Amino acid sequence: MDLGLSPDERELQAYSRAFADRVVRPRAAAIDRDEQYPWDIVKALAEAGFLGMTMPKALGGQDRSFLEAVLVIEEMAKACTVTARIVVETNMGAISTVMAYGTDAQKQLAARLVLAGDKPAICITEPEAGSDATAMTTRADRRGDRYVINGKKHWITGGGVSKLHLIFARVFDEKGQELGIGGFLAVRQENEKAAKGLNVTRRENTMGLRGMPESELVFENLEVPADMVVMPPSGFRRGFADLMTAYNSQRVGAGTVAMGIAAGALEHALEYAKTRAQFGRPIGEFQGLQWMLADMQTQLTASRLMLYAAARSRGAGSAFPDPMLAAQAKIFASEAAIKIVQDALQIFGASGYSRELPLERMARDVRMFTIGGGTAQVLRTLVASRMLGWKLPQTRDGYAHKTPIRDAAE
Ligand SMILES: Cc1cc2nc3c(=O)[nH]c(=O)nc-3n(C[C@H](O)[C@H](O)[C@H](O)COP(=O)(O)OP(=O)(O)OC[C@H]3O[C@@H](n4cnc5c(N)ncnc54)[C@H](O)[C@@H]3O)c2cc1C
Repeated sequence: MDLGLSPDERELQAYSRAFADRVVRPRAAAIDRDEQYPWDIVKALAEAGFLGMTMPKALGGQDRSFLEAVLVIEEMAKACTVTARIVVETNMGAISTVMAYGTDAQKQLAARLVLAGDKPAICITEPEAGSDATAMTTRADRRGDRYVINGKKHWITGGGVSKLHLIFARVFDEKGQELGIGGFLAVRQENEKAAKGLNVTRRENTMGLRGMPESELVFENLEVPADMVVMPPSGFRRGFADLMTAYNSQRVGAGTVAMGIAAGALEHALEYAKTRAQFGRPIGEFQGLQWMLADMQTQLTASRLMLYAAARSRGAGSAFPDPMLAAQAKIFASEAAIKIVQDALQIFGASGYSRELPLERMARDVRMFTIGGGTAQVLRTLVASRMLGWKLPQTRDGYAHKTPIRDAAE
């Protein structure tokens, strides 16, 4: 199917597919079973040039486009979701925020860590502040040339393995005046279990994505030098909005992981439909399954097109993907992927339910993508707010429109 990829993009796609088949696929089941972060895969990804490839060449990256990153992520996700998420978060997560708004020193720090195999962590969610992220209570108090951070985050991807942390906190000046929400870069020290004041206190027992720790972090008087504030152009007051706009790249990446899992599951199901025989013929000859396969392919192609469009929208005057395209692509791709994977599992009958095959792992892994990185419901409010031209109280993406803001009182 020609989806308008250039020869270079096709070449990168083929290279990633070969790498995923050779290096990643054979490790996927063990990564899930052992629940260990796959440092061997990180090393292989770094050697193959898949980490930090969207960063500028001047910083050691390859100036790759987000579309190119999406092509790589899809191929990894077909084989192993954890690997795909590592590629997302070394190319399109917190790293894009730093690359967009960071100082030269911050960019160099982030680039050095990522190229050495670090998957930066982004720390927003708190026990009482999930979708309503601006209800966060973690605070950063200015003390001379540094900030002192106190608070708790949870469900932080990579907590315990990541070195670079982008921590969101309410900012207070020396007089205790609140300035807004800011992003702070903190590095967990290489030879310590925790940086002083950055404590990994718990790991979640997750349904899927088991090779990737999701952790609770507690900041106890964590000191961050003032020059480690990632300051967006509009300053602290609207800073959270700008920082969240940067998060659109992560949404495209996450949607792509979901789509890639679905693509992998469909490949398996298609092959099985050709080879498994019942009633004296391949099960693919039954129209009931043919229509399932056709619907799965249609949903997959629609997801892929939306994600490609969202990825391509970065660049034309913007450092980030278009928020509307990114939100719609993530909603559609994540929901479609759950259905596609369930149908693929169904086509396998009982063996789809067995741990001997990757379908049950895919079904567990894919379930996350309507939740993390903005739930499908909250992303719908973002889309609706832009359609209506209103800033709805439940959208925190920083959308500013000339029409009056409507708050809960209206
Ligand atoms: C695997 C995984 C990895 C994650 N990684 C990170 C990470 O690295 N960093 C980080 O900061 N966070 C991370 N998160 C947290 C994630 O961003 C939050 O789970 C998400 O924002 C939702 O918050 P919540 O879980 O508290 O749900 P809640 O906000 O409590 O929502 C509960 C339900 O209510 C719905 N809901 C809430 N508000 C509305 C509304 N206004 N309209 C309609 N429905 C609404 C939600 O859609 C959901 O169905 C991760 C989560 C998961 C599962």
